[in-house]
Amino acid sequence: MQTTRRRFIRIVPAAGAALLAGGARAAMVDEASPQARALGYVADAARADKSRFKQYAAGQRCTVCALWQGRPGDAVAACPLFPGTQVDARGWCSAFAKRPAS
Ligand code: SF4
Repeated sequence: MQTTRRRFIRIVPAAGAALLAGGARAAMVDEASPQARALGYVADAARADKSRFKQYAAGQRCTVCALWQGRPGDAVAACPLFPGTQVDARGWCSAFAKRPAS
């Protein structure tokens, strides 16, 4: 019993670290979800609804948005507007805010 408990205590943090390191990836935002529909999120900015969202401009996409949580080169990343899911690097939504130049 003691051995099993010790082993469990050793394994659980290691498993958690592996998950955090990318072993488990959050699901992608479902474009059909109420939040995505409300914000007009699309996984490819080329499909942005330009008649509904007049503020869309060519070149806007998640990777140049101030809310993008990824690093350069990431294909997907978190966005605080879609907790627990990930957005596509090429994505777009109506909350787009250009990231200030660094
Ligand atoms: S807020 Fe920015 S990073 Fe988040 S989905 Fe919209 S465009 Fe992409």
